[in-house]
Amino acid sequence: MLLLIPGPVQTDPRVRAAMAADIAPWDTDFRTEYAAIRAKVLELAGGLPGEHATLPLQGSGHFIVEAALRTFIPAGGRFLLPMNGTYAERIHRLASEAGRVPVTIELPDTRPVTAAELDAAFAAHPEVTHLCAVVSETGSGIINDPEVLGAAARRAGKRVILDAVSAFGAWPFRLADHPEVDALVFTPNKCLEGMPGVGFAVCPVERTRARHGQAGSWSLDLADVLLKAELTGSGTPRFTPAAQVLRAFGVALHLYEEEGGQPARLARYLENMRILREGMEALGLRPYLAAEHQGPIIGTFHQPGGGFELQRFVDALKRRGVLISNFYNTTEPTFRIGCIGTVAPDDMRHAVRVIGDVLRELNALPPELESQLMARPGLPPGDIL
Ligand SMILES: *Cc1c(COP(=O)(O)O)cnc(C)c1O
Repeated sequence: MLLLIPGPVQTDPRVRAAMAADIAPWDTDFRTEYAAIRAKVLELAGGLPGEHATLPLQGSGHFIVEAALRTFIPAGGRFLLPMNGTYAERIHRLASEAGRVPVTIELPDTRPVTAAELDAAFAAHPEVTHLCAVVSETGSGIINDPEVLGAAARRAGKRVILDAVSAFGAWPFRLADHPEVDALVFTPNKCLEGMPGVGFAVCPVERTRARHGQAGSWSLDLADVLLKAELTGSGTPRFTPAAQVLRAFGVALHLYEEEGGQPARLARYLENMRILREGMEALGLRPYLAAEHQGPIIGTFHQPGGGFELQRFVDALKRRGVLISNFYNTTEPTFRIGCIGTVAPDDMRHAVRVIGDVLRELNALPPELESQLMARPGLPPGDIL
């Protein structure tokens, strides 16, 4: 099966194989692996040893995003949130339920927030302490560039929390160049092509340390993750870690470096995206985003008219070995195809061919033949495709 979803992504067999072992997380062997992963992540984030720390947390991406919000924004505190996609909406809910107050910039989900919009919002809301934003909006595929976000926050003297879950590892970013950032947050199961089950925040040490207890949740307190590392070493997990996921991540990081790191990964994803967009346009499908707003992570396309049904389309693709999401997160009906994961340009060409076959067959079918076949017992409608 070729998995073309924007996470958890298709992985290398060596990454999956690394999970097939029992692990004692407090054993010295594992502690060495864990500490090495934290050091490697710090390096990939462009963090400075001693100044920044890698803070892992069990759970999926939502958990680490909530942990960052809770740790750095005080209860009742207000922060700026550009609303241009479904993951911004998730930040809104995570923050609101945690008693942090989002001040939204309302935007369409088809383009990034601009510097002028950020400046205006900061000017109108001097009470906010932070800008919190999604870098790669996985609902549509746009990129809110951290360079634009960071520069606006620096001009306003505000701090930044970046949900870089579907960007980290592919989109260029160096913490050392972004003194305004309190937390850069990601998971291994997107552009780093690892497994789901753990999240990471990379944060400035001093600022994090000073916020111990502010989270209002022991489980989600990144300052407490830091304290644990400071007291017992960065190889010591706080609570039971997703040990197999971490070991697999170690292998994924090795493969990442072998491929050539961030520039190579971005280049492969961009090529995947180019093939996808050109292929879909050749099939007569309309991309949801203008070319200048298209990020490298995920392609969204307007659903064709007529009798198009997303689940039927997805089922037909799956029978041919290509799996895409059976839902969409844009304001208009679309379908989405991930360009990330252990997926090569040839896989993308194959996927475009398969999509073309399926669309032709879906459209080519005369309605009377379809109802005839659907009436036949034991034959699910999809099987005529
Ligand atoms: C995947 C993703 C998350 C986290 O989602 P989980 O399902 O909790 O892992 C958060 N933000 C963005 C932008 C994402 O793409």
